Amino acid sequence: MNEELHKELSLVKEQLLQNISDFDDLSALTRSTQLRSLYSRITDIEPDQRAAFGKAVNDLKNELSELITKKDSDTDLQEPIDITAPFAANCEPAKRPALLSAAVGSQHPITAELEIISDIFMSMGFRVVQSREIDDDWHMFGSLNFPEGHPARDDYDTFMTEQLDKNGKPLIAPAHTSTMQNRVLRRFSGDLAEGKPIAVLIPGRVFRNEDIDTRHEHTFYQIEGIYVGLGVTIGNLISTINVFLESFYKTKIEIKTQPFYFPFTEPSFEFSISCPFCSKSGCQVCSYSGWIEILGCGMIHPNVLTAAGIDANLYQGFAWGCGVDRLVMWKHDVEDVRNFESAKLSFLRQFSPENYK
Ligand SMILES: [Zn+2]
Repeated sequence: MNEELHKELSLVKEQLLQNISDFDDLSALTRSTQLRSLYSRITDIEPDQRAAFGKAVNDLKNELSELITKKDSDTDLQEPIDITAPFAANCEPAKRPALLSAAVGSQHPITAELEIISDIFMSMGFRVVQSREIDDDWHMFGSLNFPEGHPARDDYDTFMTEQLDKNGKPLIAPAHTSTMQNRVLRRFSGDLAEGKPIAVLIPGRVFRNEDIDTRHEHTFYQIEGIYVGLGVTIGNLISTINVFLESFYKTKIEIKTQPFYFPFTEPSFEFSISCPFCSKSGCQVCSYSGWIEILGCGMIHPNVLTAAGIDANLYQGFAWGCGVDRLVMWKHDVEDVRNFESAKLSFLRQFSPENYK
């Protein structure tokens, strides 16, 4: 290859090396105007120089490709930085705290409120049994009077797993804490034999395939309550929920019920309360109506009692299910339900013990 072509190549190589950091990947190098013009030059030059020039251009491309590949792997090896770390992540290792002080940690607001809610119900004689996070079709639907193919099954936007239960049905991430009703009724049926009621509060995490926005999450908390005994009436249901809500919001509350439909209660009600934040004069929480729909409830359907081995001719009961996140949002003026699952320290620190009321 003659001197002139050699110089031409050297000049292009120098330019490309200067700009090597601009090439994000190999295809960016191949597309570069300098390299492309070298390739198009190959056909113009004297035949006796062509082979040598072509080889030199290829060698140059290979050399540059190696540099770019090495640059990429060097970047991959850089230590990741935790941008959420509660200290300057870029500071000298010696200046990083070995341990964070205990004051930084606090209970999650949902956990703290669930303890308050459980205390209220325990003071009324309820046991507390935690719900579970994976269950089967029988407990989620069958035992609760949702026959096969019942359209109400579709209202629950249920997540199913690929794993099957012993009946060949997909296991379920429970969409309501009612999934525990049959188990709890069976487990404590001995109380009835001793002449005591079954009174259980079931807090738990539930999952629904929801479109997520400020008021809807795919993961949230519910409290389920069941009470079964002799001569239990709708009056017992209403007064139990009323006492709970007045204790929780620490204010007098008026209630309104309207008929609703759930397969596992008959009759079923939607339960509304006078807005505890504006005394019915209208505010953002109640959409200026003075009332908030707060939970679903009803008298336990005889089929549900029978499925749990309880004599439905002798005993009656009530049950309710209530979203905990919403109760806590209203209590603490939280605008976006997604905050609860976000792990945002700026949100969670507002509920540290010294700020928590
Ligand atoms: Zn209001």
